[in-house]
Amino acid sequence: MRVRLTDDSGEVVDDGLALWFPAPNSFTGEDVVELHLHGGTAAITAATRVLAALPGHRLAEPGEFTRRAFENAKLDLTEAEGLADLVDAETDAQRRQARRQMAGELGDLYEQWRAALLSALAHFEAEIDFAEEDIPPDLHARAVGEVRAISTAVAAHLDDKRRGEILRGGVSVAIVGPPNAGKSSLLNRLAGRDAAIVSATAGTTRDVIEVHLDLGGFPVILADTAGLRVSGDDIEQEGVRRAKRRADEADLKLAVFDGATWPNLDPTTLALCDDDTIRVVNKIDLGVASDAGFIGVSALSGAGLDALEAALSSAVAQRFQPSAAPALTRARHRAALEECQASFARFLAASEKKGAPELAAEDLRLAARALGRITGRVDVEEILGVIFAEFCIGK
Ligand code: GDP
Repeated sequence: MRVRLTDDSGEVVDDGLALWFPAPNSFTGEDVVELHLHGGTAAITAATRVLAALPGHRLAEPGEFTRRAFENAKLDLTEAEGLADLVDAETDAQRRQARRQMAGELGDLYEQWRAALLSALAHFEAEIDFAEEDIPPDLHARAVGEVRAISTAVAAHLDDKRRGEILRGGVSVAIVGPPNAGKSSLLNRLAGRDAAIVSATAGTTRDVIEVHLDLGGFPVILADTAGLRVSGDDIEQEGVRRAKRRADEADLKLAVFDGATWPNLDPTTLALCDDDTIRVVNKIDLGVASDAGFIGVSALSGAGLDALEAALSSAVAQRFQPSAAPALTRARHRAALEECQASFARFLAASEKKGAPELAAEDLRLAARALGRITGRVDVEEILGVIFAEFCIGK
């Protein structure tokens, strides 16, 4: 609907569109009016002033619409997190992961596990609450089998090398190598802009410099580290320490060797090389014939950079390609799932010894609560529902 916004004096402050989303089908589940006005600073300030004068009006708090949507059960917590990730997504792979989470894939998985768990718990509670002759004899074994199956699925989900979390935050790639190998020059080349200071004097890159790249849809945080060499200079030594730490923490490493010293390769850099390292020889413009296992490049002329970028893209894609199953994307999910696994382990150990079923049931309840906390849906009343839906007790 076309609207004109007027202030107390009757002056038309702005005109635009009003969209009416009646409850319960709006994003938040409440009655919502969306005003489409002109976006200038003064226009928005004036419109806000007019609206603020109306009774019951105030500015929304950060995330308040999403919070209301959650409180009105329009979204679960993982979907709300997916929405936040979508807003922050810088690359295609991040956007896709966020979309999937926002669409409920992750939350559905956790809810499925929780429902299966509540059913196992119901079987267990029945065993505690009712005389043995009233319940099927294999109930105990069934409950244990169900819990074991969920626990195996949770373990597989947790064993993901933090793929979802890394994709969400960006894949960190550390450029390591001796001073003057051309690390800064290479970073600048890859970044396509002058992000790092390039200097002919050894040991000038004393801190870690980062650039964010989009490599084939994957977010990559490329860090140039200080040259690895033993130094008497305190600041530079700190730089070297940081470089080593950074290399240890990185998801991938680009080891850059100085073509000027070929075939003598820096032993400190060689020692850092592992399966997650791409080995690069720089300065091939000096006439270096690099070996197999090394990608020859020239940061100066740009030769070999396409091959390097392709190798880096494929290494990243290989490791962080989203799988068919949804990935957990936050430490919060991981912590809750680990708590869940600990409860399962206690439950399974106790049921092997045929220990007190009350304690074992409590472990299942804790596990269900941990799962419920991830999606934000914790409700013990549901257990009763499952019992009555599945059994004809007293028959
Ligand atoms: P870093 O200490 O490893 O970061 O090395 P820099 O990027 O600061 O480069 C050190 C020196 O090597 C500078 O004088 C660069 O101009 C030079 N350099 C870098 N890349 C190349 C290259 O591909 N070929 C040649 N000939 N010189 C290079």
